[in-house]
Amino acid sequence: MAATDVDLVVIGLGPGGEALATGAAAAGLSVVAVDKHLVGGECPYYGCIPSKMMIRGGDVLAEAGRVEGTAGEAEVSPSWRPVATRIADEATSHWDDTVAVERLQDAGATVVHGTGRLTGTGQVAVELPDGTVQEYAASVGVVLNPGTRPSVPPIEGLADTPYWTNRDAVKVTELPGSLVVIGGGAIGCEMAQAMSRFGTRVTVVQHGDRLLAGDEPEASALVEEVFVSEGIRVLTGVEATRVAYADGTFTLDLDDGERLTADKLLIAAGRTPNLDDVGLETVGLDPTARTVQTDEWLRAGEKLWVLGDVTGDGAFTHVSMYQSEVALRSVTGADGPPASYHAVPHVTFTDPEVGGVGMTEQQARDAGLTVRTGFTRLEQSSRGFTHGKGSQGLIKIVEDADRGVLVGATAAGWAGGEVLGILALAVHAEVPISTLQTMITAFPTFHRAVPTAVADLS
Ligand SMILES: Cc1cc2nc3c(=O)[nH]c(=O)nc-3n(C[C@H](O)[C@H](O)[C@H](O)COP(=O)(O)OP(=O)(O)OC[C@H]3O[C@@H](n4cnc5c(N)ncnc54)[C@H](O)[C@@H]3O)c2cc1C
Repeated sequence: MAATDVDLVVIGLGPGGEALATGAAAAGLSVVAVDKHLVGGECPYYGCIPSKMMIRGGDVLAEAGRVEGTAGEAEVSPSWRPVATRIADEATSHWDDTVAVERLQDAGATVVHGTGRLTGTGQVAVELPDGTVQEYAASVGVVLNPGTRPSVPPIEGLADTPYWTNRDAVKVTELPGSLVVIGGGAIGCEMAQAMSRFGTRVTVVQHGDRLLAGDEPEASALVEEVFVSEGIRVLTGVEATRVAYADGTFTLDLDDGERLTADKLLIAAGRTPNLDDVGLETVGLDPTARTVQTDEWLRAGEKLWVLGDVTGDGAFTHVSMYQSEVALRSVTGADGPPASYHAVPHVTFTDPEVGGVGMTEQQARDAGLTVRTGFTRLEQSSRGFTHGKGSQGLIKIVEDADRGVLVGATAAGWAGGEVLGILALAVHAEVPISTLQTMITAFPTFHRAVPTAVADLS
């Protein structure tokens, strides 16, 4: 069958792909938008949004636990039911993307549910659910936004067990009595704490020597300290060597000789890019690579743009969306700046939240910068003092001393992700330290600790 001529094909409709397809169609291009599962991708259905509803539930319970000694007495009976209901009804429409599909169609795009593959420059084949294949020739080009899937480590016996990934965890209607989480990154930590606060006995198994390995070590230590104080068992520097499942119980053997048992097992051990089956080899790219190298306009080759987690520039929804804006300018020939990644923020929504932007101290040193750091604890701030329970936190800033600007910062604590905003602005706009030194901050806010950290630069 002859290929259908279009302007643009978007393969994979994660946050960036969906936004780009919408923008390109609205700009008048003929756009075919292809997704093999749900329009919107991981974030709204299995990632950010449902996980933040879980966390919100856990945080409310934690606040209730802080009533004693602060505001009287509170007796609460935790129930997961409202969390599960909010996720199914409000967040995901029961994992149905009809609204998102209609939104794209209203913008003028043609939405195709099927699996897309490059077959050459500007050429795409889409396998539809009934097995037929539709081919497209895209005169402007192709945008790839295929995202990632949960990585499953090669642990003996694991594949034969009914383990959970984030895809299962967000659909849980009743929590288990006990849970082992393999992986102490953002996803593992967020889910571990949320479920623990509803009464599940949680053990986190982290093969590295600390939780949240991509963040500052001080933030990792803070989160571990809080987890332990809340009854979460944190095992670092260990690996599971064997997993078995029988009679409703998981058994995990660790390489230090310990044996763990639990009702459920959540694998949160990183992500695998969906690059192995999108036809990269047909345009001269490596299908076994973990990331696709793009230029500052998100171009990865002739008539090819790549967005999202698979670019390796930050596996976050806001990066995917940001890239879609830059790539859309490139696709439509509109004016505007290219992509810059010197101030990519991220937040892990544990309590305390861990927000980071730009480089860590180690990354700055590895980059050969002349580094000065500033540090302060939030519980020692006026706001922390008045806040009382739950105010543990810190701010750490990293200065390129040769230029007198911040190149990185961490805000961990109550609303750490919000406090991060001021630091992200400073890193993004390269605000001189001398300007930060003369800023007036409202008393008594948590962000008032930023000038304290600036004063500590040494
Ligand atoms: C539990 C969890 C919590 C998270 N929390 C946050 C958070 O709080 N904040 C944040 O910024 N980020 C968070 N993330 C990360 C965030 O979900 C991703 O960074 C975001 O979804 C952007 O991904 P993406 O654009 O690469 O594509 P994805 O969202 O992964 O979407 C890719 C899409 O491509 C489709 N696809 C793949 N291959 C093909 C093909 N061959 N043909 C057709 N379609 C295809 C898939 O079906 C999917 O719909 C979280 C992730 C998880 C798992």
